[in-house]
This record gives sequence, structure tokens and C-alpha cells, in this order.
Amino acid sequence: FLVLTVQLTSSFLNSLEGLPGYDPVLFEAVHLQAAPITSIRINPAKKSDLSFSLTPVPWAQMGSYVSPRPSFTFDPNFHAGAYYVQEASSMLLEQAFLQSGLSNQPIRALDLCAAPGGKATHLHSLLAPGSLLVANEVIRSRTGLLRDNMIKWGADNVIVTQNDPAHFEKLPGYFDWITLDAPCSGSGLFRKDHDAIASWTTGQVSHCALRQQRILQAAWKVLKPGGVLFYATCSYSAAENEEIAEWFINEYGAIFMPIQLDSSWGVIETTNGYRCWPHHVLGEGFFFTCFQKPNTAAPIERAFRTEKNKQIKKSADFSSLVEWIDLDGMDVTEMGGQLMAFPKAMQADWQIIQSALHPVYAGVRIGEWMRDKLIPDHALALSTHLSSVVEYLPLDYTQAIAYLQRKEIKAATSTKGWMVAAYQGLPLGWLNVLTGRINNYYPKGLRILKEHL
Ligand code: SAM
Repeated sequence: FLVLTVQLTSSFLNSLEGLPGYDPVLFEAVHLQAAPITSIRINPAKKSDLSFSLTPVPWAQMGSYVSPRPSFTFDPNFHAGAYYVQEASSMLLEQAFLQSGLSNQPIRALDLCAAPGGKATHLHSLLAPGSLLVANEVIRSRTGLLRDNMIKWGADNVIVTQNDPAHFEKLPGYFDWITLDAPCSGSGLFRKDHDAIASWTTGQVSHCALRQQRILQAAWKVLKPGGVLFYATCSYSAAENEEIAEWFINEYGAIFMPIQLDSSWGVIETTNGYRCWPHHVLGEGFFFTCFQKPNTAAPIERAFRTEKNKQIKKSADFSSLVEWIDLDGMDVTEMGGQLMAFPKAMQADWQIIQSALHPVYAGVRIGEWMRDKLIPDHALALSTHLSSVVEYLPLDYTQAIAYLQRKEIKAATSTKGWMVAAYQGLPLGWLNVLTGRINNYYPKGLRILKEHL
């Protein structure tokens, strides 16, 4: 039966009149349905065996609808980074990226508004080997979650920065691809966020539109000539979507890049972009468009400052680390006592990003020395660079949940020392096996706080 879950305001509904794809009856009906459908995106870097029933999201190879919604908190695979819970319309980024011509070559990619990391983890899975991803989030309190999600994804070629979009002007023409998933009035998510309905006003829409213009201006400077910018919002308002696109084309000479979409998906083609309405698409409200920067100007070859950051001390010999980390193609550096590994081929980029921006995380954190002993970092356990020499302690479901709650683990093993707690073959984090006791090294800040489902 239908449950009245959402009471949309008349000022909001009036503002939608005449928009391509809007149908007042169907739109209101879909907002009266009980729960929006849940979807996830599988991490291709981590082979998992998921227990819930999956139906493919047609526009994203790794995307699936999940019904009924399971408890992700109580699924160890979720904590192992086997998948990311993401709204399905957002996964249309994949179509834009695959059609941009940038998916078959190593590129420099930037996600300018990246937290909590849905589109950044998605893009990461689509990038060609040898690519670099800078995932940026201006709001400090949101960068921790972004970093944790990128760590869970197991990536080695990601730098997480905390910068205002304007700071990127130090890197003119640097990136081949930019994802700009703009902060917006959020009406597309009203089915999920009922509290946002009451605070929706036309004034808020105008405020968001101005901010979107500012962020676009900044993004344009860092985009390489010939590069592609993906702009998206989860708003229905034309002022944040079609009107922004028109302004950008007129003011900056941005070239609208059409994307081919299967008509059965229900995405509505609008002026200079694409709209998802929940009464047409199996997903929430979303707008996206792609622009190419004219290739007329020669690429800007700025003399980037590449001298080593003073904090970085390249230690003479890291050979002992092979028992922890597969160092193939990686360089190890020490930053403030922390060891981290970053792809050798991207060292110049890493130096440039450090001198221009404020990175909060990069590559794979390996661990830190405590009186001559290496305490391995959680990021290493979840990364694809964990050495095959490290032994796994396989946990059953109950043990895995106890491990993720940071409780004491009781398990039989003849091995002593550092091991990786694993569930169905996927690492969850570190354990230190002592005589008669196993110490749980799951990070405190990530532990499951709830006792039961
Ligand atoms: N791309 C993310 C994902 O897929 O998980 C969601 C991004 S959310 C729509 C927009 C982000 O923009 C938020 O993380 C917000 O903190 C950030 N933001 C807010 N104000 C901003 C500003 N003035 N400049 C840049 N980003 C901003």
C-alpha cells in the first residue's frame, strides 16, 4: 500500500511547470511511494561474493539495484570496500566518461566536490592504468569520510585534497577530466531527505546557482584545452541546470558534448544536458551535462615547482618493507613518521600537488615506526598493494562483525604477529596475534557502534 511520505510544497511544484519530462501527476505519485530503490556499485578491484539479490543498473557495468535494502552496516563486505552504496542516476557519469574519449589513456582527473566519494570511487574504477585522480573536498569535516572511502576502495593513485576550488588556479590547464558534482538545492533527493523539502525556496536556488557559477569558473581554469568537464546536480531547478549550462557556453565558449543514452533508460534530453526524473528513470532526480574546452589554445606548460617538500625525507633503504607491501611500481617516502607509497610514474604530479594544494591523504599509507617496529596502517590492509606474504586469518560472519566492532577476537591460529583479518577472502584490517591473545587493530573511528542489526 501507499504511504504518504512526502508533502511537496506548491511553490516547489509550480517551479517545475514546463520543464522537459515533468509530469505533475506522475511526479507527485512517485513521491508518495514508500521507499526509493537502493543501489550499489561493485568494486572491480575486490572480488566479492555478495549475499543479496542484485539487478543490474543498465547504464553502469558495476551498478546493481538491491532489493530489499540490506543492513550495509552489518555486512563485512561493505567495510572491506567490496562495493559502494550509490544512488543509480549518479552512475550515469559512466556513460559520459566512456564517451569522452578519455577512458583509454592515462589521464589526470579531478573531482572538485568529491565528498563522500561516490563519483570519485566510480571514476577511479573507470580510469585507464597510469591515471591520477585528485579527489577534493572544501569542507574540512567532510574530507575524513572521503579519505576513508578512497582507502576502502583500495586505490594507490589518488590524492585527497582539502581546497577551495579557487586554489586550483595554481594549476592552470592541469586536468584532462573534471567532475563537478555541484552543491545544490537538492530537490532531486526529496524522496530520501524529507527535511530538505521545507527549507526549499527560490532564494536558496539562486544562491546555489551563483555558487555553481563560481565553482565552474574555477574549474574551467584548471581544465586542459580539449579536456572534458562533467557538471551535475541533484536539483530539478532550471536555474541550477539548463540556465547554468547556457551561461557557461555563452560566457566561456564551453562546447556542449552530447552523450548517447539508450531511450529505454528514461533519461530526458533537455537543452544542453540530461535530466533524470524518478517517474521516468529507476533512480532519483539528477541533471548532468558534459563540456569540452576548445582545443584552440596550446596546452599551458607552466613551470610547476617540483622541488621536494621539506617534510619529505626519502629514507635510504625500504627493502625490509617487502614483507608488508608489494612495492612494484611504487616509491616509498616518509612523512612525519608515517610511511607512504605512491606510484613512481606519478611522483612529479605528487610534488606539484603538494606545492600547490593542501593534500590530506595520498597513495597508500603503509604504517609508522614505533621504536624500530613497524605498526602497519589500516590503509595498507585494504589496498591492492598488501604483500602476498602477509597471512590472513579467515573469520566467519560472527567473528567478522565482532572484529569490526573492535571487540576481542577468539580464533585459532598457529601464526604469531601481524595478520590480516579476512572475511570471505577480503581483508578487513589488522590483527596482532600474541601468546594467548589477539589484539584487534581495527581503527576506532571506523568501528561499528551498534550492538545488533
Ligand atoms: N560528488 C559527491 C559524491 O558523489 O559522493 C557528492 C558531492 S555533493 C553533491 C557536493 C559537495 O560540494 C559537498 O561535499 C559539499 O561539501 C561541497 N561544497 C559545498 N560548498 C562548496 C563550495 N563552495 N565549493 C566547492 N564544493 C563545495
